[in-house]
Amino acid sequence: MATARLEKVTKYYPDHLAVDHIDLDIAEGEFLVLVGPSGCGKSTTLRMIAGLETISEGDIWIGDRRVNHISPRHRDVAMVFQNYALYPHMNVYMNLSYSLRLRRVAKAEIDVLVHKVAGSLHLTGLLGRKPGQLSGGQRQRVALGRAIIREPKLFLMDEPLSNLDAKLRVQTRSEITRLQRQLGVTTVYVTHDQSEAMTMGSRIAVMNNGKILQTDVPRDLYSNPANVFVAQFVGTPPMNLLTCQMDKVAGSPRLLGECVNISCPEYAAERLAEAGERFLVGFRPEDIEIAGDDPGVGFGGAVKAVEDLGHELLITVSEGSTQFIARLPPTVAERVRLGDKIGFTVNSSRLRFFDTRNEQAITVG
Ligand code: ADP
Repeated sequence: MATARLEKVTKYYPDHLAVDHIDLDIAEGEFLVLVGPSGCGKSTTLRMIAGLETISEGDIWIGDRRVNHISPRHRDVAMVFQNYALYPHMNVYMNLSYSLRLRRVAKAEIDVLVHKVAGSLHLTGLLGRKPGQLSGGQRQRVALGRAIIREPKLFLMDEPLSNLDAKLRVQTRSEITRLQRQLGVTTVYVTHDQSEAMTMGSRIAVMNNGKILQTDVPRDLYSNPANVFVAQFVGTPPMNLLTCQMDKVAGSPRLLGECVNISCPEYAAERLAEAGERFLVGFRPEDIEIAGDDPGVGFGGAVKAVEDLGHELLITVSEGSTQFIARLPPTVAERVRLGDKIGFTVNSSRLRFFDTRNEQAITVG
């Protein structure tokens, strides 16, 4: 178990800046998830930590050792990929014990370790099978077991669940989370799936275009996104962002725009006035409540779509070229009809604001 630290780590490919001066501090035992859209530089970052890719600029530390020029074998990291990379001609027992046999660990000790790891991964009954005789989920568990058995300082996992079907993915992600917490091994986990990141990570770093845009615990990432990209990447449906401007109406500041006519919280008015003429007001779909039929005040517009998911309704409301989504309890289904005008109230403490020029959050509190 160890800490890991990335300082201004950068990767240039001949015609491309793949990772752009990123900083990360990973605590001992932490489960850090790197999440972002395809091509944003996640795998390259992970591969630089593993030593499979050279670093163009910056430093990587594992524990108190700078590992920039240390070969993958000597970094004491274990990597799990989406393609399980098991030895097809060896059975599960031999696959699990491979690294220990290379290190010439005594047979009796190997046997104890294999059974311990197999037990914690529910593989005990499968030790005699070859990878070809296993399901995708079982193969992935063997790959995990092979990493665990080495007791590395650091686990590196690159989209390990992406070859599994949806149900198995959910099952295996709680399995991995449980194991990681139980073993306490520092882990860096790469995924493009924000729900995987939110459910598994003790902390999440959101990447886009080679940069880390925000690193935070899942709850803070969701509640206080640092910029427009994170606001829209985390959460399904994403945070609603509506363009508005501030005007004085009868002496009181109001936020006005398509779908928006709300009084501006006192504490925010001054800060927003500095932030330019127009800005974005953001709220989560579950943070609003139906106010009534008068869309004049609050957030409102015409009901454009209703998705009934059984346990909740997702309502798309629009005005002009603007729209937002409300997440409502199924009990209001009777009151929401396509084409009707509808208005919502919001608790102003739930509102978030973003600068339209640089897309960064405006801190108003
Ligand atoms: P992610 O894992 O987030 O999908 P990658 O780290 O694999 O993204 O890739 C980041 C960027 O670097 C992408 O634009 C990709 O095309 C590019 N890239 C990755 N590997 C190479 C390579 N060996 N040579 C040139 N460009 C690469």
